[in-house]
Amino acid sequence: MNPLHPSLGAAYRVLETGEPIRKEDAELLSRLTGEHVLDLASLANKVKNRYGAPVETGALHACSIMNAKSGVCTENCRFCAQSKHNNANIEVYSLTSEESALIEARHAVAEGVSHFGIVTSGYGYKKMNSEFRRVLAMIKRLHTELPGLNVCASLGVLGEETASALARQGIAHYNINIQVSPARYRELISDTHEIEERIETIKLLRRNNISVCCGGIMGVGESMADRLDMIFALQELDVTVIPLNVLVPIEGTPVAHNEPVCLADIVKTFAICRLAHPTKIIKFAAGRETIMKDFQGLLMLSGANGFLTGGYLTTRGREVAEDRRFAEHIACFN
Ligand code: SF4
Repeated sequence: MNPLHPSLGAAYRVLETGEPIRKEDAELLSRLTGEHVLDLASLANKVKNRYGAPVETGALHACSIMNAKSGVCTENCRFCAQSKHNNANIEVYSLTSEESALIEARHAVAEGVSHFGIVTSGYGYKKMNSEFRRVLAMIKRLHTELPGLNVCASLGVLGEETASALARQGIAHYNINIQVSPARYRELISDTHEIEERIETIKLLRRNNISVCCGGIMGVGESMADRLDMIFALQELDVTVIPLNVLVPIEGTPVAHNEPVCLADIVKTFAICRLAHPTKIIKFAAGRETIMKDFQGLLMLSGANGFLTGGYLTTRGREVAEDRRFAEHIACFN
């Protein structure tokens, strides 16, 4: 039997002190192979148990989202089925009604989901307009009719006026992902907008005391070093929730035939993300059921303490009840 790898000492230090790992130590951990990767995952799971932010629904933070406006997006994000630059076959519709949002939110509440996110396709809302006012009215209606529900939003880039209007609505979290290493955003994600606009939105949200949900995606052509850059960029931005996505390749997008990321690299990314963010909510978002399949449990035991349930923007997930049973099994290792 191999002894524990010496690089794991840095992970033990996080467990003992609660202090986030340094990037140079994370780089050493990112080179682990074979059974040492499972030792790293186990340590990340212990760090999550000891320091992970308290979560509402038992051991795991479960949220669901609704695609409130779908397709014909002006931006050219390479992974996204909703970009008009790509040729994915998806349902296209303009902003949905308050009634439709209410029906979906009631369904999520009945399933025991604590956080419900309204997501719209598009660049965002730098200025107030009639569509943004309709989103605000939708959020207000959900708060009025479902008082216990945490309503979140993911509406793209914001400006001063729209961010402060959202703050007044009291949303739980605002999601805007940096996706990859900021230095490679133009190359790997989109060149119709700048990563700086998204980072500015994150800073604006924080100035307005809105809790930020911001993470990234694996499988778009990034290296392990790029993933570390993304993880440590999030440390500087001090976000609250970190969703990690694994690319779900969609025909008609430029990344549809990318090589899948190997499982060990995904495990290391989750684990290092936990070691770099001991107290945060780290959420497994897209790719959990559809791509990772049998290995989703391993990833949930590599430092994550939340997941997205009940379906994604343009792809289906599985039933919330099935995910609830899954969460109970994961909780055995807390
Ligand atoms: S990720 Fe958002 S901004 Fe990018 S193409 Fe898709 S809907 Fe548009």
